[in-house]
Amino acid sequence: MHVLATPIAYLKGVGPKRAEVLEKDLDIRTYENLLHYYPFRYVDKSQFYKVSEIHSDLPYIQIVGKIVRMKEVSAKRSKRLVAYLQDKTGLLELVWFKGTKWVKNSIKPNTQYVVFGKPNLFNGKINIVHPEIESVEEYKKGKSSKMQPMYPSSEKLSNKGLNNKAIGKLTQALLPQLKNQIRETLSADLLQKLNLPSREDALFNIHFPKNTQDLQRAQYRLKFEELFFIQLQLIQMKQVRQQKMKGHNFSTIGEHFNQFFNKHLPFELTNAQKRVLKEIRRDCGGQHQMNRLLQGDVGSGKTLVALMSVLIAIDNGFQACLMAPTEILANQHFETINDFLIDLPIKVGLLTGSKKAAERKILHQELENGEIHLLIGTHALLEDKVKYKNLGIVIIDEQHRFGVAQRAKMWKKNTQPPHILVMTATPIPRTLAMTLYGDLDVSVIDELPPGRKEIKTVWKSDSNRLRVFGFIHKEIRKGRQAYIVYPLIQESEKLDYKDLMDGYESVRRAFPEQQISIVHGQMKAEDKDFEMTRFVKGETQIMVATTVIEVGVNVPNASIMLIESAERFGLSQLHQLRGRVGRGAEQSYCILMSRNKLSEDAQKRLKTMVRTSDGFEIAEEDLKLRGPGDLMGTQQSGVLDLKLADLVKDNAILQYARQMAIETLKEDPALSLSKNKNIASAFQEHMRNRWQWSRIS
Ligand code: ADP
Ligand code: MG
Repeated sequence: MHVLATPIAYLKGVGPKRAEVLEKDLDIRTYENLLHYYPFRYVDKSQFYKVSEIHSDLPYIQIVGKIVRMKEVSAKRSKRLVAYLQDKTGLLELVWFKGTKWVKNSIKPNTQYVVFGKPNLFNGKINIVHPEIESVEEYKKGKSSKMQPMYPSSEKLSNKGLNNKAIGKLTQALLPQLKNQIRETLSADLLQKLNLPSREDALFNIHFPKNTQDLQRAQYRLKFEELFFIQLQLIQMKQVRQQKMKGHNFSTIGEHFNQFFNKHLPFELTNAQKRVLKEIRRDCGGQHQMNRLLQGDVGSGKTLVALMSVLIAIDNGFQACLMAPTEILANQHFETINDFLIDLPIKVGLLTGSKKAAERKILHQELENGEIHLLIGTHALLEDKVKYKNLGIVIIDEQHRFGVAQRAKMWKKNTQPPHILVMTATPIPRTLAMTLYGDLDVSVIDELPPGRKEIKTVWKSDSNRLRVFGFIHKEIRKGRQAYIVYPLIQESEKLDYKDLMDGYESVRRAFPEQQISIVHGQMKAEDKDFEMTRFVKGETQIMVATTVIEVGVNVPNASIMLIESAERFGLSQLHQLRGRVGRGAEQSYCILMSRNKLSEDAQKRLKTMVRTSDGFEIAEEDLKLRGPGDLMGTQQSGVLDLKLADLVKDNAILQYARQMAIETLKEDPALSLSKNKNIASAFQEHMRNRWQWSRIS
């Protein structure tokens, strides 16, 4: 057995009891697991701050002083413990929301403590929330190096004797046993080229760095490695796909496409649309199967690009299908596309959950004998009964609602897989796209059709409600329609439902002469559709809704989007909602209503919305504020199981890792050269461990 595989119980200072806790709470079973349990920060013990020197822009800092007083404060939903630390220059608030009992019992009054944490500005005062705290005596005992590692621990672990410091001691006991036992994963070439420390040095230094420089080099090396193997995998997948997956060859541009382009197209394509169409033509006209992600902001004209790709397929004797996430959207696509195709000899079918059995049967037949050229629908398209004569291209709209598994299902609809074009209106920051979709080809429509009026976005506090409603009155009298949206967050669903109903009542009182629709998550699908359709047809002037209003729905006459409690929405959600207006010729408005007092993050979100309507800029900001895991939802966050690297901050390392992965595979596609043998075996290991998650290929 390799020493790294030794069960953690054998480590000096662990024993069976602690081993159990380590295993259960931290998933640390072996020496190797402990080795990879990294500090989350390092205390620079070379410097102390005075209370009077502290401001909120400082990073984690160290202060020494006496706790002179403590008090518990109860607010509406929470309780907090506030302790006051005093030094010669002033008084500093320390705040705990969690574990207050433990803190209260262990802090002794009028004793000198060393406090460590990040200063924040809250209501005009500086405080430190959840600081690390230890008595000066303890502090002196622990002082070994100037850069002291801090390991993630919890109250529960601390109670069981495994606080930050205890974990540090275990690691300290472990490292000497691992000398010369840690295998290198990168080639000598790469180490030299990038001037990286060996893996052993990096792992030792990530735990106990002698100075900041050693630490930074160790971090760089480990982050690079993490990203390098992910990129290696993505690029290899892409290569394999391109070599093995033969695709239908759409070699000609024929009658239908040309007729549409010359006679039906009511406007000039934007340059971005032209470029993307070229990319798609190149993909489909070659030897290989296309697997492309099309990103474009709401209203950028993706549907049209999709339609023209469909026409190319039809011109080459193939069928096509277009899948939308909801029935309303499928219906809308069906109508707009039929309008576009008027008097072209193309038969379009519609298949949604509400199709009657008899109609379905006919549809299935027409599909199998090739009479239907284009089938539009919802996930009903995925049912096994749906068979095609000759499916050449699959287009999936609003991709974020479809899972990878569903994409894979479409894939199997034919002996030879159809080309796949996935369209999403949720811009994905480039760094994230590179990691999540590194195996797909990505096209971007980064330009809106000309003549669009910029949506005017304002941020108002609740006290302006009367004026805001007055403004909506005026717009409705001009013939416009308005959305009024309330937040719905799962955990407090009941409360939100009440907010929505209260809101609905107040809207009714404020707009007695208008017809009002309401749509929310607890309604049946038919009822939702019914209400939505009334609004689409203009029978109602105001749509009161929770966030369930359909992604992508198109009501050009709606010119106002009022978002209640806007501080509770995420940035991409706000952006999606705003995209519901600004679709017609009229000036549109997005009004963000919020409380007066907001957290810093909420303020940043709302300010971003007012500042820009560029989906990519908003996505980047969102990534900064929330981090990548949240951004992609739970389904895909597993992909980003990164220990050290941060896709926002480490963008440069990511770019480098990708470039090196490309170069490595270019020179040695099978990783069979002897100089790459470290990489080859580490890569095998990586594939075994991490990516059970399977992609289409
Ligand atoms: P998306 O699906 O990207 O949100 P759509 O394809 O629905 O956007 O297009 C939004 C609107 O813009 C549609 O009414 C469409 O007809 C129109 N449109 C698309 N391309 C152009 C263009 N090049 N010039 C003018 N209008 C366009
Ligand atoms: Mg669309």
